[in-house]
Amino acid sequence: MQYIKENLKKINDNIVKACKRAGRDVDSVTMVAVTKTANTEQIIQAIKCGCSELGENRIQHFKQVYDEISDYLEEKKHDAALPDQVNWHMIGHLQRNKVKQILPMVRLVHSVDTLRLAEEICGYCEKNQSDVDVLLQVNCSEEVQKFGVPVGAAVHLAEQICSMEKMNLRGIMTMAPLTEDEKIIRQSFSRAREIFDDIKAERFVGDDFQHISMGMSNDYEIAVEEGATILRIGSAIFNESNE
Ligand SMILES: *Cc1c(COP(=O)(O)O)cnc(C)c1O
Repeated sequence: MQYIKENLKKINDNIVKACKRAGRDVDSVTMVAVTKTANTEQIIQAIKCGCSELGENRIQHFKQVYDEISDYLEEKKHDAALPDQVNWHMIGHLQRNKVKQILPMVRLVHSVDTLRLAEEICGYCEKNQSDVDVLLQVNCSEEVQKFGVPVGAAVHLAEQICSMEKMNLRGIMTMAPLTEDEKIIRQSFSRAREIFDDIKAERFVGDDFQHISMGMSNDYEIAVEEGATILRIGSAIFNESNE
């Protein structure tokens, strides 16, 4: 599984270069390794190569790899080459009836896009006396997307989330439209940046509002140039044939 190491090196080089082009500090960008198509062995390999932020979107797969990786890290806890723990991100659509299964596993929920989902998460946190970090998923492309709050409603929903005591709004998340057209992708990322700035300027958000989660395997360099602080990258890491 040498290819995982090589893929990660290439991605890292590209991120460094994109940061240079954008005049950004490399430390301002975090990569979440998206494991939805990976098996446990591949994920362990990625962890050994330094990936400590992991992202999932399929509930069944999430639970399975979460348990297996947790057991593995516990078993190897004296191995200096491995971190004591990894952080899991819920990056995909979250159904309200899955909140109580998912929340105990995650560090950051990227996909809060309705008031009802926010209320469900908040209710879970109140019951369990916990807090949760979330991102507001915004639909920044003109295309009809299944998920994400429309641009025009984003500030209002952000305010509603911020009014919930247990919810810590850390930023926004967006998905680029499905296209190869770089200009269109860049436009949607740049719109995300504008919405981020609009919300950031509001009095109701705190200093913790810092993140823009955008950019996947095919568009993460554009995302870095447009201000992403969290990249969600899957196939470019775990596909063996990436050249
Ligand atoms: C699958 C997925 C990714 C990663 O996609 P790749 O193209 O494999 O890098 C990122 N974000 C979300 C929400 C996803 O579902």
